[in-house]
Amino acid sequence: MTTQPPADLIEAMEQFLAQITPYDDPAAEPVAAVDVRVGRLHASFRLTDRAARALTEALGRWTDPDDAGRCGDCGGPVGRDLVCRACGRLDGIFGATVAHHAAQVADRPD
Ligand SMILES: [Zn+2]
Repeated sequence: MTTQPPADLIEAMEQFLAQITPYDDPAAEPVAAVDVRVGRLHASFRLTDRAARALTEALGRWTDPDDAGRCGDCGGPVGRDLVCRACGRLDGIFGATVAHHAAQVADRPD
């Protein structure tokens, strides 16, 4: 079952931890705490070792949807438009195709 992630950070943490609870040791003691403040709302989550590891793993796996890799020229971040945010180079296969076409057009006699 796939559900949309909640827009609210506190609700997202509650849902995330609810997924872990059935598999966690009921006697497990909290090893970490995460405080979340959203506007006037505040929630404090006490995480067992399993929950802390799960959150760490989830954070480590996350990739920004606008992340299209690294620039082949300068190593800067490339966005969805395949343009390097650092040097402005058009990257990837599309960028190479456009650059190749531009070079061909530039070589054409008028
Ligand atoms: Zn670059």
